[in-house]
Amino acid sequence: MKHLLDISNLTIDEINQIYARASEFEKGIRKSNHINAHVATMFFENSTRTKMSFEMAINKLNANKYDFCAETSSLNKGEDLYDTINNLSAIGVNAIVMRHSDNDLIKELAQKKYYQDVSFVNAGSGTNAHPTQALLDYYTIKKHFLNLDDKIITIVGDIAHSRVAMSNIALLKNFNMKIRCLAPENLIGEKIEGVEYYTNLKDAFENADIIMALRIQKERIQEHIDIDSYIQNYQITKDNLPYAAFLMHPGPINKDIEIASDVLEMQNAKTILNQARNGVFVRMAILDMLLSAQGL
Ligand code: ASP
Repeated sequence: MKHLLDISNLTIDEINQIYARASEFEKGIRKSNHINAHVATMFFENSTRTKMSFEMAINKLNANKYDFCAETSSLNKGEDLYDTINNLSAIGVNAIVMRHSDNDLIKELAQKKYYQDVSFVNAGSGTNAHPTQALLDYYTIKKHFLNLDDKIITIVGDIAHSRVAMSNIALLKNFNMKIRCLAPENLIGEKIEGVEYYTNLKDAFENADIIMALRIQKERIQEHIDIDSYIQNYQITKDNLPYAAFLMHPGPINKDIEIASDVLEMQNAKTILNQARNGVFVRMAILDMLLSAQGL
């Protein structure tokens, strides 16, 4: 594994290896020391959980962490991103954790030649991929269910603009799960083979083992969205959440839009903070594998 760009680049073996390694980090039975590795975070979009948990993971691996700040960098003097990264590589950066609004930029950058080898980790690209989120979601689900056969997951919310949905679908399709997506017609987006699409909450929630809620991503939506009608038809409430269903959300939550506030106090919602916690171990596992592959 040289980069982590997209779920489709991973074999099932690699997914299981990431799971196993994350679990060892969580249990404290694996310790890694990457004292010679230099990892830069480059976030061109806002982030709380992803950025902080990558930073925590880098620290826990004893690697060296550098936060690239686009606003105060020479990008503002007109330097292009490839030249910027090539210079970071010359300075000694071995890995870059990047979030960007462009769907394809990280793949294009990863294909280029640099002063010395650089591993790229996709921390969210546009609307199409957020592989580390999907891997931590898988880790969270698998820790709870052990056997995923025939489990039903309903992903509800702004599917059309969600890189979290895209990466989760790509990952969970490898397992024998039933994947449902629920959204109003204008937030469903392009349909993916093997996924069942619903516009009616009652049908989509029936017998669901996992409900994964998504944020309405106002910053990516051009057209008018009727929030009141969304709340009325799709908000997760104490009444419509299936009993014992595992509730997930990648964060940030728009409280009282996609999920009613009082639901967040229920036992079912404990998972959401566990997703954030598990993100550290999963990101440790990914960086550990990439840095070890570079001999660092
Ligand atoms: N934090 C997730 C992402 O970056 C989900 C969201 O922003 O709604 O894609």
